[in-house]
Amino acid sequence: MEFGLTDEQRAIRDTVRDFVRKELTPREPDVLARDRRGEPGLTRDELTALQDKARGFGFWGLSTPEQYGGMDLDAVTQALIHTELGRTYVPFVFGGEADNILYEANDTQRAEYLLPTIEGDRISCFAITEPGAGSDAANIRLTARADGDDWLLSGEKTFITNGNDADFAIVIALTDPAAGARGGSTAFLVDRSMGWTSSPIVTMGPAEPASLFFDQVRVPSSHILGEVGQGWRLAMRWIGRGRYLIPARAVGIAERALSMAVEYANTRETFGAPIAANQAIQWMIADSELELEAARLLVLRAAWLVDTGADARHASSMAKLSGATMVNRVIDRVLQVHGGMGYTRELPIERWYREVRLFRIFEGTDEMQRLILARDLLRGYTKVGLV
Ligand SMILES: Cc1cc2nc3c(=O)[nH]c(=O)nc-3n(C[C@H](O)[C@H](O)[C@H](O)COP(=O)(O)OP(=O)(O)OC[C@H]3O[C@@H](n4cnc5c(N)ncnc54)[C@H](O)[C@@H]3O)c2cc1C
Repeated sequence: MEFGLTDEQRAIRDTVRDFVRKELTPREPDVLARDRRGEPGLTRDELTALQDKARGFGFWGLSTPEQYGGMDLDAVTQALIHTELGRTYVPFVFGGEADNILYEANDTQRAEYLLPTIEGDRISCFAITEPGAGSDAANIRLTARADGDDWLLSGEKTFITNGNDADFAIVIALTDPAAGARGGSTAFLVDRSMGWTSSPIVTMGPAEPASLFFDQVRVPSSHILGEVGQGWRLAMRWIGRGRYLIPARAVGIAERALSMAVEYANTRETFGAPIAANQAIQWMIADSELELEAARLLVLRAAWLVDTGADARHASSMAKLSGATMVNRVIDRVLQVHGGMGYTRELPIERWYREVRLFRIFEGTDEMQRLILARDLLRGYTKVGLV
């Protein structure tokens, strides 16, 4: 068994760490100040400028195939990078990425959607959730009705990330209501100019998703992604990617926050001694490190399984559940260690507190991950102790 990283993985991780230290960390006070004013941490222009800078030294399109100019990195390396980026609260992502399912586009769609999305000239969003269908995504009602060579889309999507900025949406719609979402849904590439509208949803964290409204939006058949009836497969593929990258980011956030707690515990004095002298504080630190390292291993194992081509769904659910719950517990303890200071907006802890709560909800709630894990065991899809 080899727990070490390859030389290349270590070099990439160190380069990203350096980029974070030099280019992102200095922006943190500004991000906090903007957060207090209710503004995004980075404007689109600032994000693009940083992405261009990273592109200058080759960091562009982490998951994008080389034929499109990307790095085509393995899943483990991508997870390591997401962890590094999690160590800062500057909301940066590398450029040159497109939704994984856009690679199923045909030649015409590739030119119209995939390539401009990779280049950052178009912004996409992915829409399956509806007011009546979140965890129970198979209950979607947004319907596409055939009309000649077109389809008419009617219904509502909600909580859609990038839904306010996107100029096109990948929409999962029912094309055969009798067959249900699993066999009777289809993915459509729908330009905003075709007629859908959006409305922002204010949340407790930095995320600002949107509701999307479709009222007989006319979409040509040529805008079907993949085949009619393949919507569910594409949706599950899209969601599968986040299952190990979200907890990878959670690991980075927990690393940074726990380091702050260690430093604070050693310097803050009460009753004439550093608070680190108290077992109550030590145990919070010890439990946090233990849970952090356990989550890291689950994330890396899930990513490694992806790289081997094996079915990584069970392992990814464990990684998502572990990472999401771990980071919430760690941030809560880190806030407690900081006492009143932890509760202020002088420090980023309360911001993380609000931000990471989302990790237990989106792209499959904690309960849905547990449901998957239990189902896999109870139905014999996997066995206890199978590594
Ligand atoms: C900020 C944000 C961004 C998002 N981005 C996107 C996006 O880009 N695209 C997209 O399509 N969606 C997106 N979502 C939607 C997200 O995936 C859903 O919110 C999530 O799947 C939960 O669905 P729900 O909110 O309808 O909760 P519900 O499904 O109504 O669940 C409510 C509660 O009941 C629990 N529950 C439900 N069923 C069961 C059960 N059988 N057993 C036990 N407990 C159960 C849930 O776990 C949850 O705790 C986003 C959501 C948020 C908040």
